[in-house]
Amino acid sequence: MKKTLLFFTIFILTNVFGQRSCGTDQKMKEFFANNPDALAKKQDLRNYLTTKNTNAKNIQTVVTIPVVVHVLYKNAAQNISDVQIMSQLAVLNADFRRLNTDYSSIVPAAFQPFSADMELVFCMATKKSDGSPTTGIERKSVAASFNFATNYYQSSGLLAWDPTKYLNIWVGDMPSPFLGWAYLPDAAGYPEDGLAIGYKYFGTTGVAEFPYNGGRTATHEIGHYFGLLHPWGEDGSLCGTLDNDDGCADTPATNDPHFGGNTFPDNTNTCVASANGAMFMNFMDYVTDQEMAFFTNDQKTIKTNTMAGPRASLLNSNACTFLSVNDVEKVNSINLFPNPTTQYISIASPLVKINEAEIYNSEGRLVKRASINNETDKIDVRDFAAGVYYVRTYYNNDFIKSMKFIKK
Ligand SMILES: [Zn+2]
Repeated sequence: MKKTLLFFTIFILTNVFGQRSCGTDQKMKEFFANNPDALAKKQDLRNYLTTKNTNAKNIQTVVTIPVVVHVLYKNAAQNISDVQIMSQLAVLNADFRRLNTDYSSIVPAAFQPFSADMELVFCMATKKSDGSPTTGIERKSVAASFNFATNYYQSSGLLAWDPTKYLNIWVGDMPSPFLGWAYLPDAAGYPEDGLAIGYKYFGTTGVAEFPYNGGRTATHEIGHYFGLLHPWGEDGSLCGTLDNDDGCADTPATNDPHFGGNTFPDNTNTCVASANGAMFMNFMDYVTDQEMAFFTNDQKTIKTNTMAGPRASLLNSNACTFLSVNDVEKVNSINLFPNPTTQYISIASPLVKINEAEIYNSEGRLVKRASINNETDKIDVRDFAAGVYYVRTYYNNDFIKSMKFIKK
């Protein structure tokens, strides 16, 4: 009881002084309450994401994620400039390649061996789902009464672009106390999938406000989007409980967030005191933008499993580059049939060579791997449970295309 009261007091103080608060836990609770199917799979998906898969193929080392930014503004200040948006993209492209210039000054030497290049690159989408050109930015003026928190992804706001192909980021009048939130991979493909961020916490210039003008709110939220949790697990959970675990052995377990001004080593919130103390300068903690600087190897494992599983369709997106008509034709020529199916699938690829297929279930688990020599080859799916499956095709280990089918 005492602890709860203390936590509550800290929470109130935190917001008086404008410290970081992330809405991901709350939004995911609402999401699971509304989506019992996703709730039923939650623990299985978490187990999959946090288990290092030694069988995993290196599809592509560095993956490029197409981004669309939806700006919902009530006044001129909230209608953030293209320059502010591009300043955010630059931060992401440094942070997710461990190229951020503040890395070595912020991350203590003792923690540097745990740090990872997340091997993600972000680009503004250059084409819409229908292939027409775009800047990857769309804007809409909304009334002063518009409730950003509940309506940003609805038709009164701006609808997501196909969330299986784009990372959708909505920027607008984020309600206190949150700086932003994201949906975990459990929500992949849902209309609200993506990030929502306050216009004052996005990018490094324009109307971005100190100490959240370092673009790290988006870095933190994209961590969630790829499956990462806060180092203390779910808000309010206690050391030693299941909900207190982020599934990463290399992020020391802590009980509460750090809000900045911490000095290494800091054991204030650690579950077990150690020489290095808490990893408060990790992107998934709550310190200010000027005090966080890295992800870890175990956090990268979660990202890699997310890309191989629930967010694999992003690999296929090509929404940042205009492929030549020739290439588009080649990839489009690959066809999976019959779909839906009850017994077998075959894959026809008249213009591109493929020689291997992997089938993943809707939870992102690899359920079958098959060699393919020609389009008359049948892949037996009789023993699969009914549901949606994803097929990824390869030629000599190079990823070619992913497709979806329904087993009846
Ligand atoms: Zn968070």
